[in-house]
Amino acid sequence: MPIYEYVCMVCKKEFTVILSFSEYEAKPKITCPHCGNDHVERRLSTFFAKTAKKS
Ligand SMILES: [Zn+2]
Repeated sequence: MPIYEYVCMVCKKEFTVILSFSEYEAKPKITCPHCGNDHVERRLSTFFAKTAKKS
C-alpha cells in the first residue's frame, strides 16, 4: 500500500498515512495525529523534491 507523507501546518510535525489507492481516490480528510487539525499539506517524495531543486 502506498504511504503518503503529510506535514501539519499548525504544529509543523510530519506524519505518514497509509492509504489504499481507492481510499486515496475518495479524498479522505486527513487530520494531524499530533494535534488533530486538518490543516495539513501533502509532502512530495524525496525523489521529486530532489528533481525540483535542479531546475
Ligand atoms: Zn498538528
